[in-house]
Amino acid sequence: MESIQDKLMKLTQNLWWTWRPEIRALFRDIDPKLYNSVHRNPLRVVGSVDPAFLENRAAEADIVIRTDRALRQLKEYLNPMATWGLIHGEALNARPVAYFCAEFGIHESLPIYSGGLGILAGDHLKGASNLGVPLVGVGLLYHQGYTAQVLDKTFWQHDVIEPYNLEDLPITFAKDADGNLLTVPLELPGRTIYARILEVPVGRVRLILLDSRDPRNSEEDQRLTARLYGGDQHTRIQQELLLGIGGSRALRALGINASVYHLNEGHCSFAILERAMWRVKNDGLDPYFALKESAQATVFTTHTPVDAGHDRFPVNLAAEYLKPLADGLGLPLEEVLGFGRVDPRNSGSPFMPTVLALKHSRRANGVAALHGVVSRRMWQCLWPERAETDVPIGHITNGVHVPTWLAAEIDQLYRIHLGTNWADNIVKPDMWLKIEEIDPAEIWEVKQVLKARMIRFVRGKAKDKADRLEMPQPDLSAFDPDTLTIGFARRFVTYKRPDLLFRDLDRLDRLVNHPTKPLNLIFAGRSHPADNPGKEIIKLVGQMIEDPRFKNRIVFVENYNMNVGRNLYQGIDGWLNCPRRPLEACGTSGMKVVMNGGLHISILDGWWAEAYDGENGFAIGNGEIHANHEIQDQRDYESLFKLLEEVIVPMYYERDSQSGIPTRWIQRMKRSIRTLSWRFNADRMLMDYVRHSYLPAAGASNAQMPPP
Ligand SMILES: *Cc1c(COP(=O)(O)O)cnc(C)c1O
Repeated sequence: MESIQDKLMKLTQNLWWTWRPEIRALFRDIDPKLYNSVHRNPLRVVGSVDPAFLENRAAEADIVIRTDRALRQLKEYLNPMATWGLIHGEALNARPVAYFCAEFGIHESLPIYSGGLGILAGDHLKGASNLGVPLVGVGLLYHQGYTAQVLDKTFWQHDVIEPYNLEDLPITFAKDADGNLLTVPLELPGRTIYARILEVPVGRVRLILLDSRDPRNSEEDQRLTARLYGGDQHTRIQQELLLGIGGSRALRALGINASVYHLNEGHCSFAILERAMWRVKNDGLDPYFALKESAQATVFTTHTPVDAGHDRFPVNLAAEYLKPLADGLGLPLEEVLGFGRVDPRNSGSPFMPTVLALKHSRRANGVAALHGVVSRRMWQCLWPERAETDVPIGHITNGVHVPTWLAAEIDQLYRIHLGTNWADNIVKPDMWLKIEEIDPAEIWEVKQVLKARMIRFVRGKAKDKADRLEMPQPDLSAFDPDTLTIGFARRFVTYKRPDLLFRDLDRLDRLVNHPTKPLNLIFAGRSHPADNPGKEIIKLVGQMIEDPRFKNRIVFVENYNMNVGRNLYQGIDGWLNCPRRPLEACGTSGMKVVMNGGLHISILDGWWAEAYDGENGFAIGNGEIHANHEIQDQRDYESLFKLLEEVIVPMYYERDSQSGIPTRWIQRMKRSIRTLSWRFNADRMLMDYVRHSYLPAAGASNAQMPPP
């Protein structure tokens, strides 16, 4: 008979558990303390728990029954009778979509992501899995992971590498029929390096990762995939070559004949050239024809309107690395360099992978309606003969993978009121009408439970930090479920303006310390390790927390990651988002808050510009932009404070004389859930990509195309 340990181990081998709260609870119940100490990684729980203890525990907590049930469900999930993807994505069944991205955020125990882009990619894979859309992810395995944020006494951010072991994750090395490790070669200046191929099952979807730790490589080359976004321009272009070229080769090595390449950000653009090069070498195609064919089967998503977010490789550096590609295509190097230039004839200008992708993809899109507009303006230079509105960049608004981010208690509430299969109908607006029928007291009670849990979480984190720094414990007694609590958690970078609240401290003092209507603020977020201006803002928030006026009202939670995020999204009342419009491409954290019954308080930027209807949350300002940042910041600050003082705080504390609950606030919660949940989720996002991007591109990849 299979031991309980073996069964549990089997359950850990597919990252399906990352979005199954009942399975995460199962592993937690084995040993809650152990569970938290190993970053909530089930594999490590099973690997380190004492077998005798487990046998005892299994009897107490129904572990065996729950494990058997979960295994049965996993088996059913992996062998579906019918899925949306099977029916609507038929053309993709034989040849899947390859989704390329430099980072994937699936769970905090697999630290190969840094922020929004990676978590979106993780949500995309999970969404594809749920709908049964044939798709494989392609990325890099960063073996040192991303850094953890550790703050010192002055709130200065230190970036600490948190190494992890592959054995603690359900990652397997791909092998050939003889059991040898599968590798792919990559030509770099003066040498060829090799990368191993690893695979991770994410539900019904596979994630393929490349790792440069092959003994044939020099030590330096083995460190190529050590860190996400680490190193200099050389590291960067080499990583991008490995992702695009190595990634395409890995697909072929695994026998995956992808129909469509979905490239996310310029980091993976070289895949376009590799695919064409292979057709030239293998099938003797004309290079221009091959490039056109490759482009017709490629869809490109740009994720940022921030100019510095797009790589620019100096000509000499690019020339050195692109030589093998030009040779393989049989084209002059100068011509290939031109693919990455706004004006190909401008031989001095740097090579931009984003430009390469925009010029060589069938369809390009931004990640929200407004971001589409901004991207068309930004890249009109590539189509100078066209009007801005005719620039061929559309948009597909991002969505979040609901089961990953939803509190179990909210799921339960939806089950009762929307039906047990509500998640299957998530994109249907009519289903969400039933939200209005829920008794306000009931939804409020659930929210208060979640808020109390978040506060316990935040207190625990604050205690851990004080203990580590040997500092006195902060007094967080003012953090209670009856006080309006607003959260701000995101990357600390100047354009997101985490300091917008701190322009007038006396006014902030009056707001947060109001005798009857106080306000608590929870901050979290980190800066890129090289972003000192961003780190300065964290320090500034730290100084605010040391100010006696604010020290009981503001708290900063260290090391924002998926776990910290999940806890905050589920419990918070209001979620503050105040980027300098129009620099937030989409933003997704607010979507995670909304479906958990929190209200979004945001500048009309990113997704909020198309989502806000006047009553389903709050808008800061009216979407105005000013060429002068200082004027724009001051104006937005005024709008934010007016909104807080005159609308948000009064509404939260306006209580029904009978029931004591904030009726108008709850009305807004319901409207927010009803009008936003059906749109801003991963199912809708995947359906849009399948219909508008993947199917057309898959058709074209088989079609005969005339030579250019
Ligand atoms: C969702 C999420 C993000 C992205 O959210 P934004 O609104 O784009 O900042 C970043 N980090 C974590 C941990 C997340 O869960």
